[in-house]
Amino acid sequence: MTTVSYSSLPPARKLLNWYYRHRRHLPWRAAPGDVADPYRVWLSEIMLQQTVVATVRPYYDKFLAAYPTVTHLAAASVEEVCALWAGLGYYARARNLHKCAQAVVAMGGFPDCIEGLRGLPGIGPYTANAIGAIAFSLPVLPVDGNVERVTARLFAITDPFPGAKKSITKAAERLIEDKDARAAPGDFAQALFDLGATVCTPKSPNCLICPWAAHCQGQADGLADTLPVKVKKAERPRREGVAYVLLDKANNVVLLRRPPHGLLGGMLVLPEVPPIMARWRQAGTVEHVFTHFALTLTVRVARVSALPEGVLSAPVGSAPVPSVMRKALDAACLALNHAGDDKRSA
Ligand code: SF4
Repeated sequence: MTTVSYSSLPPARKLLNWYYRHRRHLPWRAAPGDVADPYRVWLSEIMLQQTVVATVRPYYDKFLAAYPTVTHLAAASVEEVCALWAGLGYYARARNLHKCAQAVVAMGGFPDCIEGLRGLPGIGPYTANAIGAIAFSLPVLPVDGNVERVTARLFAITDPFPGAKKSITKAAERLIEDKDARAAPGDFAQALFDLGATVCTPKSPNCLICPWAAHCQGQADGLADTLPVKVKKAERPRREGVAYVLLDKANNVVLLRRPPHGLLGGMLVLPEVPPIMARWRQAGTVEHVFTHFALTLTVRVARVSALPEGVLSAPVGSAPVPSVMRKALDAACLALNHAGDDKRSA
């Protein structure tokens, strides 16, 4: 097991100075030195879980336009929130977002302490620390994948993930003991995020331009690009399913709403069994990777003159569905185009 030496912590001042020159301009960020709006920090942090910045940007803008404050979000229906979230994945986040907004409004605003934040739906230790540091200047460090990687390299921690997670987190938390880091915890956290995202990148850390190069044990040992060590994950199991795309002449598609909990909970999806007897055509297969399994979905499509009474439906081009269902809809439309479908009903 790696013994971490803390005799010389890298100086926070060097990292902060680098951040003030090279920080990323992100729509949810306040200017350096300013304290951010907790609503914006919270919204962006929930969206950024398991999701890259480029994917999040348009969703963040859409949400902020639809719900400029937490009060607006709390007043929306959960269905509306899920529809706006469609395509961003990990749908439990959308339901918790809505629940959390209602809890925040009920208590008159975001709590300004870690314990209070941790008590809110969908807020774990990382998100509580992110909001605490960035929106309330609490001297805590949110440890995400970027911070873990930088820390493993700084202290040359060679124990493999996920076993080393605890010791890496502990080492990372020492970084906030520096007085300059404690004086600007929000900037310090975001500086670490940016260092990990733009300089200390997963495959090829650019140590030559790193403000902490002179203080980095991993770099000195020539180990930087091999850290953190990760145990190879077992391959995901593969599952199979079927999606039925039933369209009318005006290109409305039949949808169902999933139960509120579980996979794609609360979201609009395609039926797994034929909603009616029709001339179903094969529209190929689509692949999608979920966290715990990979899915091969066989797509079948049919067009009828009118959809059955009382079904949920939406225009196929703008239906607010998760990415896997969007892939199935695209495959169905492509198959109809290839078959020379001219919107006559079957
Ligand atoms: Fe990462 Fe290299 Fe900087 Fe060390 S010197 S923190 S490995 S970029």
